Amino acid sequence: MVATAGSAVWGSCRFCGTAVAPGASACGLCGADRPVPASALPSAPVAVRRRITLTNWLRALIVLAVAVGLSWTLIDSVLTGPPAVPDPLTTTGTYAVPPGSTPILTGEVTGGDYVVGNFTSVRPYLAEITLSVFTAQGWRGLQENGSGSPVWSSPSEGSGRIIFSALYTTNYTFVLTNSYAEAAHLNITVYVATEYESNVGNDGFG
Ligand SMILES: [Zn+2]
Repeated sequence: MVATAGSAVWGSCRFCGTAVAPGASACGLCGADRPVPASALPSAPVAVRRRITLTNWLRALIVLAVAVGLSWTLIDSVLTGPPAVPDPLTTTGTYAVPPGSTPILTGEVTGGDYVVGNFTSVRPYLAEITLSVFTAQGWRGLQENGSGSPVWSSPSEGSGRIIFSALYTTNYTFVLTNSYAEAAHLNITVYVATEYESNVGNDGFG
């Protein structure tokens, strides 16, 4: 039985194994003539059948490999997340703070991002301390004529939380203030841990 032009079942190229339209006299892909009609496949020479089967298997394998590769790429990026770049405002440290205000950290915060953390006076234990955040302009003003005020400030306490959200992108200075009298000569040792949090990658803030 030979496939006719009206036959709905496609044959296979005896050389490359690709599907050949019913009734075609040559392979559309490689040009080899005498394609094997579907009906003649079971009686085709073993070598030809083997080649066709192998081609089909290889083709399925390639599709599978690409699918697996793509899913792995997706899974991998989900598992590892975006690359973590340490920020200068992600810190841990202890600071000796004499009476007055002492800057401890400075760094740029993107508008919409925030810095979280905590602080504790470790010596004298829970001595009252204030953590404030100034813009560069505010900090300069405070030093020059006492006019600058912080954009964020903790209550005066022995330990507390830092939750500072930047309204706009600029350099911010984190300042510890020891309010004991100068005459007390009381240095307060303060442990501070901070972490820069990117709220959104690009949220349109300046
Ligand atoms: Zn072919």
